[in-house]
Amino acid sequence: MGAPEIRVFNTLQQAKVPLQPLTPGKLGIYVCGPTVYSFVHIGNARTFTSFDTVVRYLRYRGFEVRYVRNYTDVDDKIIKAAAATGEDAIALAARFVREFEADAARLRLLPPDVSPKVSETIPEIVAIIEKLVARGAAYQSGGDVYFEVRKYPEYLKLSKRNLDDLIAGAGERELVGEAKRDPLDFALWKAAKPGEPSWPSPWGAGRPGWHIECSAMSAKYLGETFDLHGGGLDLIFPHHENEIAQSEAASGKTLCNSWMHGGFLDLEGAKMSKSLGNVVRLRDALEKVDAEALRYFFLSTHYRQQLAFSDKSLADAETRMEYFYETLKKVDERIAGKDFGTGPLHGDPQRFLAEFDEQMSDDFNFPGGLGALSALFTEFNLLTDPKSPVKDKNLAGRTLVALREVARKIAGALGLFELEPAAWLLARRDRQVIARGIDAKKVQEMVAARDAARAAKNPAGYAESDRIRAEARAMGVELMDSPAGTTWKIAAV
Ligand SMILES: [Zn+2]
Repeated sequence: MGAPEIRVFNTLQQAKVPLQPLTPGKLGIYVCGPTVYSFVHIGNARTFTSFDTVVRYLRYRGFEVRYVRNYTDVDDKIIKAAAATGEDAIALAARFVREFEADAARLRLLPPDVSPKVSETIPEIVAIIEKLVARGAAYQSGGDVYFEVRKYPEYLKLSKRNLDDLIAGAGERELVGEAKRDPLDFALWKAAKPGEPSWPSPWGAGRPGWHIECSAMSAKYLGETFDLHGGGLDLIFPHHENEIAQSEAASGKTLCNSWMHGGFLDLEGAKMSKSLGNVVRLRDALEKVDAEALRYFFLSTHYRQQLAFSDKSLADAETRMEYFYETLKKVDERIAGKDFGTGPLHGDPQRFLAEFDEQMSDDFNFPGGLGALSALFTEFNLLTDPKSPVKDKNLAGRTLVALREVARKIAGALGLFELEPAAWLLARRDRQVIARGIDAKKVQEMVAARDAARAAKNPAGYAESDRIRAEARAMGVELMDSPAGTTWKIAAV
């Protein structure tokens, strides 16, 4: 039996719709990337992690995915930020592209196949605007060019808004000082202003408006019609609505088949956004928490739902990751280099993979996928427990080997467990040592003293060993016995 058909909640239809690639076996996905005027915050990081996981899952399902995520490096906010620091706008944007890439690498986001920039797509942008003007969907006004929304009858089909209501709501304010025919007409090209970056065009020197860049970049790298378009919920209107209008008015073709939108990340009850000022920078979060724990936290809620951020939720996610990695370490130690022979298995390990696919095929239900992973880890712990109901060591061993392979597949599709368990656990301990102000050198001395006491193999030595263990516990440190001697970790609070 093959894996189930993938269904995606399409914002256009407001329903889950089967994903049908334009070309069998291939998928093109475009995700609106960051506007690079400052550091990426974890609200944006959540959106990018969601689509990163979508891409991973689609590849795991065998699709050849072409993943495009742009950089908005020409924008009002960038110009404003550059004016504030006296920096060149293009240089400031280039600097924050590098910072974004460093942060994305720390979060271990897959590099997209193409990461185009507005500043490198100007000829294509100008070409689309020329086409729109030639088709009568856009008009020049001074050195600006505007898209005329009334010329595109399907305008607002994505956001399901009403044009007349919006115009009534816009009021006269939006008309003042702007030579637009309708308040909702939006800029495709803006005439150059002193000190701003500009490029030559048939309408004089200027720069592109915000929305047109994505129409140009998606067409350039994925074609005029492609499979999936993603972004945060806040982009539905006006950004994606305008992308659709421009692209479809220019090409006469459907821009894309499925529109996916990710929910907000809330901080203390409000959407995290730079304009509200309540942001946690990704790099600051990654100082405190492991990258995979942050990913686990993001994936623990459906991508379309709101997710409430708190320090406690991050700490809980890391505790959960510790459980996973401790389990993997135990399993790996149990099976490494051993031959358990051939024969039957305990239960069907593939059932966890089937459940994972069932959940993920249903509009990328990340929490459901994590649920399948958790059930698999429960089975790991059952089979490695000294009181396991499976008494046959070879039967348990063979089953663990098969389950380990299933865990590897699921983890790969979710972007988890990319580190060696021992290395992850040590890094976790290092973070906790710092966070709790524990004297690691003293602990090492206690470990050595305890090993020496136990080596005596007499009652006095064992008593001393127990005393040291109790002393460590009082410091918040748990000493554990292993074949290689005493090891330690930070005790759970
Ligand atoms: Zn976009």
